[in-house]
Amino acid sequence: MARIAVGGFQHETNTFAPIKASFDKFERPDAWPGLCQGERLLSSVDGVHIPITGAVDHFRLSGHDIVPLVWSSATPSAHVQEDAYERIVGMMLADLKAALPVDGVYLDLHGAMVCAHFEDGEGELLRRVRALVGPDIPVSVSLDLHANVTEEMVRYADALDIYRTYPHIDMGETGARAARHLEIFMSTGGRWAKAFRRPDFLVPLNFGCTDIDPAKGLYEKALPRALAGGGTTAAALAMGFPLSDIAAVGPSLVVYGDSQSGVDAVANDFLDALTKEEARFGDRIWQPDEAVAEATRLAAGSSRPVVLADTQDNPGGGGTGDTTGMLRALLAAKTEGAVVGLFNDADSAEKAHRAGVGAQITLQVGGKLNPGDSPVTVEGRVEKLGDGRFVGTGPMWGGANYEMGLCALIDVDGLKVAIASKPEQTGDQSMYRHLGIEPSEMKVIALKSSVHFRADFAPIAEAVLTVAAPGPVYVDTGALDFDHIRPGVRQWPGTD
Ligand SMILES: [Zn+2]
Repeated sequence: MARIAVGGFQHETNTFAPIKASFDKFERPDAWPGLCQGERLLSSVDGVHIPITGAVDHFRLSGHDIVPLVWSSATPSAHVQEDAYERIVGMMLADLKAALPVDGVYLDLHGAMVCAHFEDGEGELLRRVRALVGPDIPVSVSLDLHANVTEEMVRYADALDIYRTYPHIDMGETGARAARHLEIFMSTGGRWAKAFRRPDFLVPLNFGCTDIDPAKGLYEKALPRALAGGGTTAAALAMGFPLSDIAAVGPSLVVYGDSQSGVDAVANDFLDALTKEEARFGDRIWQPDEAVAEATRLAAGSSRPVVLADTQDNPGGGGTGDTTGMLRALLAAKTEGAVVGLFNDADSAEKAHRAGVGAQITLQVGGKLNPGDSPVTVEGRVEKLGDGRFVGTGPMWGGANYEMGLCALIDVDGLKVAIASKPEQTGDQSMYRHLGIEPSEMKVIALKSSVHFRADFAPIAEAVLTVAAPGPVYVDTGALDFDHIRPGVRQWPGTD
């Protein structure tokens, strides 16, 4: 039986987004638990589909003594403020120091955290953890598929493992894999040789989806090939998070194994396989008006809904959840049988609650958090109210205890406008059911998500159209002004 410290600190930083992550954003629960520490960490994450839960369940089954540190996450946004980072890392290191001696450390990190005071949130955290535990205590880490992996993360962790699905339906499994790596280090006392590689291009967020090629093939064929390489003990592939203006932005891979020459050879082959697919990372992106017209046409001939993914306002990628482009297009087309949202608009939700169910109401919905956007005047009837507390049911958020604040559904001549009080990507059907909407019965669902929604919504959808209404989760990374990207990295795959 070993004594293992476990903790986590997750943030995906869109440096082009308008709002930074302050400490209170990490404190409060959303679809994931709020900041939790000590024994409360274990009860808070229990049954929730996140990496640390997979790791903790694995350690429990193995009979290890688990020492919970701190676990915390915030919805993706712009940089993590210095105060938030230093307070949370300070808690984690103080807990770890108090827990010493430990036999191993497992951390549930994202890998794309950018702080206001430095670029590499996870690399710096791992450097500090390593400095505290010394060179001999193994440290194993699970990362998001959107990690922008750095040399420092690879150096200071003995193993990094990464989700293999986007939508991320394997978070628990990834945590369990990282836990098994730690057990190997603890039982053998050995460490693995490491090889880290990065190609010279970015993968735009929407095209890293592992339900479709080329990402599908890379995870289903190239990764298993690397794992089966002679002497390979572990291998991981990240698509990277392209909306981060940092040197380490972009896809990467890590191969671990018995010998340096062995992992180098496998990593080079793996990098070749990734690089060969560069030009295939792409798909049609629709403008709001044409997307609404196409969705209406497709829905007319089907009993299943057409999903419009308002990807550039995906709160899971740093969107504010309050942009109005899709709402304007749906109102202009007088679209009936459609639901749009969930909007992050606490003010409108509260006004609807004050008015009550059945009341006719005029609201200024959304458009408050991004420069260039403005609220939309919505005149309709309050159809349903909710307290924002419900349990997720889909493949990614099943078991999640949502706390979305006050919620409301406004009916505008058959167009349903769904409003919550926090930004959270619409990735789970429970978010609509909480407001009395059965998604499969709608004609058009205009949700705020880039790819994760596919796990729960694609099975009920006639078609999915990705739409580029204005917002900060830019599909076109080629048009972004990067200042810190590595020289020679192509911002749009297949271009100069
Ligand atoms: Zn991700």
